[in-house]
Amino acid sequence: HAKSRGGGQHFLFNAGLAAEHQEKVDTEKALTEAVQRGDFVMAFQPQMSLVTGEVCGAEALLRWNHPRDGLRMPNSFIPIAEKTGIIAEIGDWVIGEVASILGNWHRNGFRGRLAFNISPRQVDRADFFLKVRQAFADADVPLSLIELEFTESAAMEVSEAVLAEIASLRDDGARIAIDDFGTGYSNLARLRAMPLDRVKLDPSLIADIETSEKARVVVQAVIQLIKGVDCEVVAEAVETVAQADILRAMGCDTVQGFVFAEPMFEEEFVAWVGNADRGARSVA
Ligand code: C2E
Ligand code: MG
Ligand code: MG
Ligand code: MG
Repeated sequence: HAKSRGGGQHFLFNAGLAAEHQEKVDTEKALTEAVQRGDFVMAFQPQMSLVTGEVCGAEALLRWNHPRDGLRMPNSFIPIAEKTGIIAEIGDWVIGEVASILGNWHRNGFRGRLAFNISPRQVDRADFFLKVRQAFADADVPLSLIELEFTESAAMEVSEAVLAEIASLRDDGARIAIDDFGTGYSNLARLRAMPLDRVKLDPSLIADIETSEKARVVVQAVIQLIKGVDCEVVAEAVETVAQADILRAMGCDTVQGFVFAEPMFEEEFVAWVGNADRGARSVA
């Protein structure tokens, strides 16, 4: 009896692994075709200064226009793209797209900065930083208008050579941000040594600041730590006005979250920023 049950589980276990493997293989193949066809689209989420109340920039977020499944969110394919290495090609597409779109906005008078996400597998490529410089030079966009986001764990594992490239890009005006801070294992000495402008708090840190005194104590301490090393603090996934008020009182500089605006495709984003501008002018 026990033996047959065990055998059944064993069979199911293998079947599950096989299915998971098959999905990975299918997704990798589909991603290769998607890169060739350019089946991707960027969404843009505004960031607001908690000090001035103005839109100060945006983050570019990748979406996959899947021919069969429709719009697919990054969490459903970025991890596979990273494992297989195809993230490098996807990342190249993202950089080219962000550069050309930001170039258009810049010529049309948008002065906000645009942040985008970098996977650790991308910076391993020797020509990564050259490609970034080339893309924005070609699009006539000053490096001071871009921000590169590295997750906390990615930032902790990059080589000294990559750190030097990051520092040089920053010297030339680009901003460097740490994403999802508070989820990795930060080496605080490394954090102090990083060429860094902004730190984005992980949503899990702020999720219950309205109800939990402990959560508030932790967030306040983290904000103090970040500001103590001369970095700006960005709170991500802020969903309520109460959260934003608490964060402002704690000295958080910038918020990005549904309370303010969701990620939007380009046309909607441009209209949204236009309206936000008019709003700011009519208040002033
Ligand atoms: P991330 O860089 O931390 O981006 C923030 C995520 O939080 C986005 O999810 C955004 O839509 C979501 N978010 C913003 N405000 C709120 C809110 O108020 N509530 C909630 N619940 N969520 C909010 P998204 O677009 O699904 O992206 C997920 C992750 O995928 C990103 O996390 C980033 O790590 C990765 N990703 C996105 N685009 C790219 C890309 O171009 N390249 C790479 N390498 N990774 C990317
Ligand atoms: Mg990000
Ligand atoms: Mg994040
Ligand atoms: Mg993330």
